[in-house]
Amino acid sequence: MTEHKLTLLVIDDEASNIKVLREVLKSDYKVYAATSAEKALQLISSSEKLPDLILLDIIMPGIDGYELCKKLKADQQTKSIPIIFITSKTTEQDEIKGFEAGAVDYVTKPFSTPIVKARVKTHLELKAMREHFEKLSMRDSLTGISNRMHFDHKLIQEWKRMQRDNLPLSLIMCDVDFFKKYNDHYGHQAGDRCLQRVASIIDINSKRPADLAARYGGEEFAVILPDTNAVGALEVAEKIRSEVQRYEIPHAESTVSPFVSLSLGVSTVIPSQEVTPEELIASADAALYKAKENGRNRVEIAI
Ligand SMILES: [Mg+2]
Repeated sequence: MTEHKLTLLVIDDEASNIKVLREVLKSDYKVYAATSAEKALQLISSSEKLPDLILLDIIMPGIDGYELCKKLKADQQTKSIPIIFITSKTTEQDEIKGFEAGAVDYVTKPFSTPIVKARVKTHLELKAMREHFEKLSMRDSLTGISNRMHFDHKLIQEWKRMQRDNLPLSLIMCDVDFFKKYNDHYGHQAGDRCLQRVASIIDINSKRPADLAARYGGEEFAVILPDTNAVGALEVAEKIRSEVQRYEIPHAESTVSPFVSLSLGVSTVIPSQEVTPEELIASADAALYKAKENGRNRVEIAI
Protein backbone atom coordinates (compact mmCIF):
# COMPACT_ATOMS: atom_id res chain seq x y z
CA MET A 1 0.00 0.00 0.00
CA THR A 2 2.66 2.50 1.06
CA GLU A 3 4.34 2.74 -2.33
CA HIS A 4 1.04 3.72 -3.94
CA LYS A 5 0.49 6.71 -1.71
CA LEU A 6 -0.24 9.92 -3.57
CA THR A 7 2.18 12.78 -3.02
CA LEU A 8 1.43 16.23 -1.63
CA LEU A 9 3.74 19.19 -1.69
CA VAL A 10 3.34 21.71 1.14
CA ILE A 11 4.84 25.12 0.47
CA ASP A 12 4.99 27.47 3.45
CA ASP A 13 7.71 29.77 4.78
CA GLU A 14 6.91 28.78 8.36
CA ALA A 15 8.24 25.39 9.41
CA SER A 16 5.62 25.11 12.16
CA ASN A 17 2.79 25.30 9.57
CA ILE A 18 4.46 22.59 7.52
CA LYS A 19 4.78 20.44 10.61
CA VAL A 20 1.08 20.73 11.44
CA LEU A 21 -0.02 19.86 7.90
CA ARG A 22 2.42 16.97 7.75
CA GLU A 23 0.98 15.54 10.97
CA VAL A 24 -2.55 15.83 9.59
CA LEU A 25 -1.83 14.28 6.18
CA LYS A 26 1.11 11.90 6.55
CA SER A 27 -1.00 8.82 7.34
CA ASP A 28 -2.76 9.06 3.96
CA TYR A 29 -0.18 10.70 1.71
CA LYS A 30 3.49 11.09 1.05
CA VAL A 31 4.14 14.68 2.13
CA TYR A 32 7.00 16.79 0.76
CA ALA A 33 7.66 20.34 1.84
CA ALA A 34 9.42 23.49 0.68
CA THR A 35 9.89 26.69 2.69
CA SER A 36 9.87 29.05 -0.31
CA ALA A 37 8.47 29.26 -3.83
CA GLU A 38 12.00 29.16 -5.23
CA LYS A 39 12.79 25.92 -3.36
CA ALA A 40 9.45 24.46 -4.44
CA LEU A 41 10.18 25.16 -8.12
CA GLN A 42 13.58 23.55 -7.72
CA LEU A 43 12.06 20.51 -6.02
CA ILE A 44 9.40 20.15 -8.72
CA SER A 45 11.84 20.39 -11.62
CA SER A 46 14.35 18.00 -10.08
CA SER A 47 12.01 15.22 -8.94
CA GLU A 48 11.05 12.39 -11.24
CA LYS A 49 7.38 12.54 -10.44
CA LEU A 50 5.21 15.63 -10.10
CA PRO A 51 3.26 16.09 -6.85
CA ASP A 52 -0.38 15.04 -7.12
CA LEU A 53 -1.55 18.14 -5.26
CA ILE A 54 -0.02 21.30 -3.79
CA LEU A 55 -0.93 23.06 -0.53
CA LEU A 56 0.28 26.61 -0.86
CA ASP A 57 0.78 29.49 1.56
CA ILE A 58 0.29 33.01 0.20
CA ILE A 59 2.51 35.32 2.24
CA MET A 60 6.11 34.27 1.71
CA PRO A 61 9.30 36.25 1.18
CA GLY A 62 10.44 36.32 -2.46
CA ILE A 63 7.89 34.90 -4.88
CA ASP A 64 4.57 34.82 -3.04
CA GLY A 65 1.85 32.18 -3.29
CA TYR A 66 -0.27 33.97 -5.89
CA GLU A 67 2.70 34.42 -8.17
CA LEU A 68 3.89 30.83 -7.75
CA CYS A 69 0.38 29.57 -8.47
CA LYS A 70 0.21 31.58 -11.69
CA LYS A 71 3.65 30.30 -12.72
CA LEU A 72 2.67 26.67 -12.19
CA LYS A 73 -0.63 27.14 -14.02
CA ALA A 74 1.14 28.73 -17.00
CA ASP A 75 3.54 25.80 -17.35
CA GLN A 76 2.30 22.94 -19.55
CA GLN A 77 4.04 20.42 -17.29
CA THR A 78 2.56 21.54 -14.00
CA LYS A 79 -0.72 23.17 -14.96
CA SER A 80 -2.89 20.17 -14.11
CA ILE A 81 -1.64 19.87 -10.52
CA PRO A 82 -4.47 21.05 -8.25
CA ILE A 83 -3.39 23.85 -5.90
CA ILE A 84 -5.14 24.62 -2.61
CA PHE A 85 -4.26 27.84 -0.85
CA ILE A 86 -3.86 27.58 2.92
CA THR A 87 -3.55 31.08 4.25
CA SER A 88 -4.24 33.59 6.97
CA LYS A 89 -5.48 36.08 4.36
CA THR A 90 -9.19 35.89 4.97
CA THR A 91 -10.94 38.60 2.96
CA GLU A 92 -13.18 37.86 0.02
CA GLN A 93 -10.80 39.81 -2.21
CA ASP A 94 -7.89 37.57 -1.13
CA GLU A 95 -9.92 34.48 -1.91
CA ILE A 96 -11.03 35.77 -5.32
CA LYS A 97 -7.41 36.56 -6.12
CA GLY A 98 -6.52 32.98 -5.20
CA PHE A 99 -9.07 31.51 -7.58
CA GLU A 100 -8.04 33.93 -10.30
CA ALA A 101 -4.46 32.71 -9.91
CA GLY A 102 -5.75 29.22 -10.76
CA ALA A 103 -6.25 27.54 -7.39
CA VAL A 104 -8.97 24.90 -7.01
CA ASP A 105 -9.69 25.72 -3.37
CA TYR A 106 -8.98 28.18 -0.60
CA VAL A 107 -8.67 27.30 3.10
CA THR A 108 -8.12 29.91 5.81
CA LYS A 109 -5.96 29.55 8.90
CA PRO A 110 -6.55 28.45 11.55
CA PHE A 111 -7.94 25.48 9.64
CA SER A 112 -10.00 22.54 10.77
CA THR A 113 -8.20 19.23 10.30
CA PRO A 114 -11.18 17.23 8.96
CA ILE A 115 -11.95 19.99 6.45
CA VAL A 116 -8.41 20.09 5.09
CA LYS A 117 -8.41 16.30 4.82
CA ALA A 118 -11.78 16.28 3.07
CA ARG A 119 -10.83 18.97 0.57
CA VAL A 120 -7.52 17.34 -0.28
CA LYS A 121 -9.30 14.03 -0.82
CA THR A 122 -12.00 15.61 -2.98
CA HIS A 123 -9.54 17.39 -5.25
CA LEU A 124 -7.40 14.30 -5.65
CA GLU A 125 -10.51 12.32 -6.63
CA LEU A 126 -11.55 14.98 -9.12
CA LYS A 127 -8.07 14.96 -10.62
CA ALA A 128 -8.11 11.16 -10.95
CA MET A 129 -11.51 11.35 -12.61
CA ARG A 130 -10.35 14.01 -15.05
CA GLU A 131 -7.35 11.91 -16.00
CA HIS A 132 -9.53 8.83 -16.39
CA PHE A 133 -11.95 10.59 -18.75
CA GLU A 134 -9.11 12.18 -20.66
CA LYS A 135 -7.66 8.72 -21.29
CA LEU A 136 -11.08 7.29 -22.18
CA SER A 137 -11.72 10.07 -24.66
CA MET A 138 -8.52 9.16 -26.52
CA ARG A 139 -9.21 5.40 -26.73
CA ASP A 140 -11.18 3.40 -29.22
CA SER A 141 -13.65 1.45 -27.07
CA LEU A 142 -13.48 -1.78 -29.09
CA THR A 143 -9.74 -2.19 -29.57
CA GLY A 144 -8.28 -0.09 -26.75
CA ILE A 145 -5.80 1.66 -29.05
CA SER A 146 -6.02 5.38 -29.88
CA ASN A 147 -9.16 6.60 -31.57
CA ARG A 148 -9.62 8.89 -34.56
CA MET A 149 -9.83 12.02 -32.40
CA HIS A 150 -6.50 11.28 -30.73
CA PHE A 151 -4.99 10.43 -34.12
CA ASP A 152 -6.04 13.81 -35.59
CA HIS A 153 -4.65 15.65 -32.59
CA LYS A 154 -1.38 13.75 -32.56
CA LEU A 155 -0.85 14.10 -36.31
CA ILE A 156 -1.02 17.91 -36.07
CA GLN A 157 1.26 17.87 -33.04
CA GLU A 158 3.91 15.68 -34.70
CA TRP A 159 3.54 17.60 -37.95
CA LYS A 160 4.53 20.81 -36.18
CA ARG A 161 7.34 19.12 -34.28
CA MET A 162 8.84 17.54 -37.44
CA GLN A 163 8.43 20.81 -39.37
CA ARG A 164 10.33 22.68 -36.67
CA ASP A 165 13.14 20.10 -36.62
CA ASN A 166 13.08 19.50 -40.39
CA LEU A 167 12.60 15.75 -39.94
CA PRO A 168 10.60 13.19 -41.94
CA LEU A 169 7.14 12.13 -40.80
CA SER A 170 5.71 8.86 -42.06
CA LEU A 171 2.18 7.58 -42.07
CA ILE A 172 0.87 4.06 -42.61
CA MET A 173 -2.77 3.55 -43.52
CA CYS A 174 -3.98 -0.04 -43.52
CA ASP A 175 -7.09 -2.06 -43.92
CA VAL A 176 -8.16 -5.66 -43.19
CA ASP A 177 -8.61 -7.49 -46.50
CA PHE A 178 -12.15 -8.69 -47.25
CA PHE A 179 -13.33 -7.69 -43.81
CA LYS A 180 -16.98 -7.41 -44.82
CA LYS A 181 -16.86 -10.99 -46.06
CA TYR A 182 -15.16 -12.02 -42.79
CA ASN A 183 -18.02 -10.47 -40.81
CA ASP A 184 -20.67 -12.06 -43.02
CA HIS A 185 -19.06 -15.47 -42.72
CA TYR A 186 -18.01 -15.56 -39.05
CA GLY A 187 -20.43 -13.06 -37.50
CA HIS A 188 -19.95 -9.66 -35.94
CA GLN A 189 -18.57 -10.90 -32.64
CA ALA A 190 -15.80 -12.77 -34.43
CA GLY A 191 -15.31 -9.64 -36.55
CA ASP A 192 -14.81 -7.60 -33.38
CA ARG A 193 -12.29 -10.09 -32.02
CA CYS A 194 -10.44 -10.02 -35.33
CA LEU A 195 -10.19 -6.21 -35.17
CA GLN A 196 -8.97 -6.40 -31.58
CA ARG A 197 -6.18 -8.84 -32.53
CA VAL A 198 -5.14 -6.85 -35.56
CA ALA A 199 -5.14 -3.65 -33.48
CA SER A 200 -2.91 -5.15 -30.83
CA ILE A 201 -0.48 -6.49 -33.45
CA ILE A 202 -0.28 -3.03 -35.05
CA ASP A 203 0.14 -1.43 -31.64
CA ILE A 204 2.94 -3.79 -30.55
CA ASN A 205 4.82 -3.13 -33.78
CA SER A 206 4.72 0.66 -33.54
CA LYS A 207 6.63 0.65 -30.34
CA ARG A 208 8.78 3.76 -30.06
CA PRO A 209 7.42 6.27 -27.56
CA ALA A 210 6.38 8.84 -30.19
CA ASP A 211 4.77 6.27 -32.55
CA LEU A 212 1.01 6.13 -32.50
CA ALA A 213 -1.29 3.35 -33.69
CA ALA A 214 -4.94 4.31 -34.07
CA ARG A 215 -8.20 2.88 -35.28
CA TYR A 216 -9.01 5.23 -38.12
CA GLY A 217 -12.51 3.91 -38.66
CA GLY A 218 -14.25 0.56 -39.31
CA GLU A 219 -11.54 -1.92 -40.32
CA GLU A 220 -9.05 0.81 -41.15
CA PHE A 221 -6.02 1.59 -38.99
CA ALA A 222 -3.33 4.25 -39.10
CA VAL A 223 0.18 4.50 -37.69
CA ILE A 224 2.00 7.80 -37.18
CA LEU A 225 5.80 7.41 -37.29
CA PRO A 226 7.63 10.62 -36.39
CA ASP A 227 11.29 11.03 -37.36
CA THR A 228 10.99 8.03 -39.69
CA ASN A 229 12.00 8.00 -43.34
CA ALA A 230 10.34 5.96 -46.10
CA VAL A 231 12.71 3.01 -45.65
CA GLY A 232 12.01 2.83 -41.92
CA ALA A 233 8.26 3.17 -42.46
CA LEU A 234 8.27 0.41 -45.09
CA GLU A 235 10.03 -1.84 -42.59
CA VAL A 236 7.41 -1.20 -39.94
CA ALA A 237 4.58 -1.73 -42.44
CA GLU A 238 6.07 -4.98 -43.69
CA LYS A 239 6.57 -6.18 -40.11
CA ILE A 240 2.91 -5.46 -39.31
CA ARG A 241 1.78 -7.23 -42.48
CA SER A 242 3.84 -10.36 -41.80
CA GLU A 243 2.92 -10.47 -38.08
CA VAL A 244 -0.79 -10.36 -38.89
CA GLN A 245 -0.28 -13.26 -41.33
CA ARG A 246 1.79 -15.15 -38.79
CA TYR A 247 -1.11 -14.98 -36.34
CA GLU A 248 -3.06 -17.27 -38.72
CA ILE A 249 -6.58 -16.08 -38.04
CA PRO A 250 -8.60 -18.26 -40.46
CA HIS A 251 -10.38 -16.35 -43.22
CA ALA A 252 -12.33 -18.77 -45.42
CA GLU A 253 -13.67 -16.01 -47.67
CA SER A 254 -10.36 -14.40 -48.55
CA THR A 255 -9.08 -14.99 -52.07
CA VAL A 256 -5.53 -13.88 -51.26
CA SER A 257 -4.72 -15.94 -48.17
CA PRO A 258 -6.26 -18.66 -45.98
CA PHE A 259 -5.71 -16.24 -43.09
CA VAL A 260 -6.63 -12.66 -42.23
CA SER A 261 -4.33 -10.26 -44.06
CA LEU A 262 -3.72 -6.52 -44.31
CA SER A 263 -3.15 -4.13 -47.19
CA LEU A 264 -0.95 -1.20 -46.27
CA GLY A 265 -0.07 2.17 -47.79
CA VAL A 266 2.96 4.18 -46.69
CA SER A 267 3.66 7.85 -47.23
CA THR A 268 6.53 10.02 -46.00
CA VAL A 269 6.94 13.77 -46.01
CA ILE A 270 9.14 16.43 -44.47
CA PRO A 271 6.42 18.73 -43.18
CA SER A 272 6.54 22.31 -44.50
CA GLN A 273 4.24 25.19 -45.43
CA GLU A 274 3.80 23.70 -48.90
CA VAL A 275 2.07 20.50 -47.78
CA THR A 276 -0.72 19.72 -45.35
CA PRO A 277 -1.40 16.78 -43.01
CA GLU A 278 -4.51 16.08 -45.11
CA GLU A 279 -2.29 15.57 -48.15
CA LEU A 280 -0.14 13.10 -46.21
CA ILE A 281 -3.27 11.15 -45.27
CA ALA A 282 -4.53 11.28 -48.86
CA SER A 283 -1.27 9.99 -50.29
CA ALA A 284 -1.02 7.14 -47.74
CA ASP A 285 -4.62 6.33 -48.61
CA ALA A 286 -3.77 6.31 -52.33
CA ALA A 287 -0.88 3.90 -51.62
CA LEU A 288 -3.28 1.69 -49.65
CA TYR A 289 -5.65 1.72 -52.62
CA LYS A 290 -2.76 0.68 -54.85
CA ALA A 291 -1.94 -2.20 -52.47
CA LYS A 292 -5.56 -3.36 -52.81
CA GLU A 293 -5.42 -3.09 -56.59
CA ASN A 294 -2.12 -4.91 -56.81
CA GLY A 295 -3.48 -7.98 -55.07
CA ARG A 296 -3.85 -7.15 -51.32
CA ASN A 297 -1.80 -8.60 -48.43
CA ARG A 298 1.00 -6.24 -49.41
CA VAL A 299 2.62 -2.89 -48.75
CA GLU A 300 2.77 -0.07 -51.29
CA ILE A 301 4.50 3.26 -50.97
CA ALA A 302 3.23 6.62 -52.22
CA ILE A 303 5.23 8.15 -55.06
MG1 LIG B 1 3.62 32.60 5.18
